[in-house]
Amino acid sequence: MTNEVAGPTDLRLQELRDTAAELNHDLHRAGLVTLTFGNASVVDRVAGVVAIKPSGVACATIDPADVVLVDLKTGAARETALAASSDTATHLILYRSFPGIGAVIHTHSPYASAWAQARRSIPCLGTTHADSFAGEVPVTRPLGPTEVGPDYTTNTGQVIVECFATGGLDPLRIPGVLVAGHGPFVWGVDAESALDAATTLELVALTALATLQVGGSGDGLEPWVAEHHFARKHGPGATYGQRPRRS
Ligand SMILES: [Zn+2]
Repeated sequence: MTNEVAGPTDLRLQELRDTAAELNHDLHRAGLVTLTFGNASVVDRVAGVVAIKPSGVACATIDPADVVLVDLKTGAARETALAASSDTATHLILYRSFPGIGAVIHTHSPYASAWAQARRSIPCLGTTHADSFAGEVPVTRPLGPTEVGPDYTTNTGQVIVECFATGGLDPLRIPGVLVAGHGPFVWGVDAESALDAATTLELVALTALATLQVGGSGDGLEPWVAEHHFARKHGPGATYGQRPRRS
């Protein structure tokens, strides 16, 4: 027995581990990951720590104690027996480059991956898309021959950041991307919003494909309808859902 009492930082990090484990479980429950093809992380920016899935472990079976804590600045793992997800470098670049985000999810969900493999961005064809993404979901450029190897996952993060920079895109208005030939990375201000983005992206990828198969022209949703749908769910003017009652 010990007299040690968990301090505030220990409690914060335990909470971060719990949230990361639960988010990975949610990915499994949502049917967005097959085997180990997916990973999720959350960040505590005050503590400067990212909590991420361990490598090679199925999302469904992660115990909070197995979640790997990684320093946001250096990428160094903290006191863990397990190796962090092989995609950790990509997650770290996204957290460093997009300061408003609090959680990152990567999956190989089949319909979003189909668009990624076709190297096609997903156009905004309807309000399901517009509710979560203020514009098309972009696809990155492919990695070049010198961008694979030991820095592969770092460069995967770099092409995502480059895609948003060159396109003038706001990652808080378009919380996801398709990595060419690979699959989606999505994010949110917290775990819940990242899970929403991952789930919605897969639905949007399916319905966009079906729309084109049915014979849709591919012309986008009218921009005024699209902006209305995004704005009513996001930002200071949001009106969707339940509001706290005034007493
Ligand atoms: Zn992957």
